Amino acid sequence: MSEKELTDKYVLGTYSREDVAFVRAKGSYLWSDKGEKYLDFFPGWGIGNIGHVHPSVKKAVCDQAGQILHMPNNFYSSHQGKLAGKIVERAFPGRVFFSNSGAEANECALKVARAYGNLKGKPGVVTARKSFHGRTMATITLTGQEKYQKGFGPLLANVEYFDFNSISSFDEVFHDSICAVMIEVIQGEGGVQVGTQEFIRHIRQKTQEKEALLIIDEVQTGVGRTGTFFAYENYGIVPDIVTMAKALGGGVPIGATIVGEKFADILKPGMHASTFGGNSLACRAALAVLEVIEIKKILEKMPVKSRFLFKRLKQFKKKFPFIKEVRGMGLMAGIELEGDKALRFFKKAIDKHLIVNCTAGCVLRILPALNISRKDLKAGLDIMEEIFYEIG
Ligand SMILES: *Cc1c(COP(=O)(O)O)cnc(C)c1O
Repeated sequence: MSEKELTDKYVLGTYSREDVAFVRAKGSYLWSDKGEKYLDFFPGWGIGNIGHVHPSVKKAVCDQAGQILHMPNNFYSSHQGKLAGKIVERAFPGRVFFSNSGAEANECALKVARAYGNLKGKPGVVTARKSFHGRTMATITLTGQEKYQKGFGPLLANVEYFDFNSISSFDEVFHDSICAVMIEVIQGEGGVQVGTQEFIRHIRQKTQEKEALLIIDEVQTGVGRTGTFFAYENYGIVPDIVTMAKALGGGVPIGATIVGEKFADILKPGMHASTFGGNSLACRAALAVLEVIEIKKILEKMPVKSRFLFKRLKQFKKKFPFIKEVRGMGLMAGIELEGDKALRFFKKAIDKHLIVNCTAGCVLRILPALNISRKDLKAGLDIMEEIFYEIG
């Protein structure tokens, strides 16, 4: 049986899949089992900030596999403390809890929030509509979209929602019994909606006034995606908790929750755990990712690439009237199209061996590798232009 036949027969059908199997990847390129080459503008669904199978990550993983793969957390092991230190250096004074995914990173943040809230007698948590925070029971509750919650109730109690970028809507739900606000400063899955300076700063100010935690979900926007290591840096604020995952491990599963010093003692021994959390292999891979970003000066090189990308996307908007809006920051872009054009675009792109993503029904989302060459970026944009002509 082919991989497709085996998958369809034995793997739960929770995903709708395209009829192509990829067996090899390097940088911004993928190869199918038929030997066909694809350009990837959405590497690994947001995990590929330094491209697929970066040589430094490969070397780190292979080397670590020859030493030790995993130690339980009742002992010290290699690389966990070092990685936590590097992450804290990039963020703010605090400490890190390691897990394996974005949802788990958010679960940990929520447990800190609830533990804190219950001490203070205020259990409420608020999040934005059209947000995305994961697929576990707690994180679908935090995700302000009915389509992810439908059929799975009862959800967590004491969670309320506000409209993204609406100060009045936020003020309506943010009352005295709220212990935490969780937010993406740029909503990814929700259609690359960029938080305004005014809105994000307002939330920081209100949470500070009421001593509520500001939790920023950087699972998609972290590790340099928007041009700064964390997207919140663009807003001149410092959150209390930040969650990360996706690109942190360069393709190896890892999640991280950074808790600011002031709240770092809320979770005491025994209150939270993860068997694989801080796994030596994952931490070693993440250290390699952070080193590549630093040594290759990836963030320093981003403004030029970002300008190149958005200049071209804005030209598309002028040229094709069915493009409603172009949004984003750094190398995170959303292109909102009329009707079902985004989905048609996505299908056509696959036929032309270009991988993009269609989210929120009508938004093309692209997250090219941050170290993509200008030549490859241009090649993908040329294909995009071709498709815009075809679907017009
Ligand atoms: C992908 C994503 C998650 C969930 O991450 P998983 O690793 O799939 O659990 C949470 N928040 C945001 C913003 C994401 O983009």
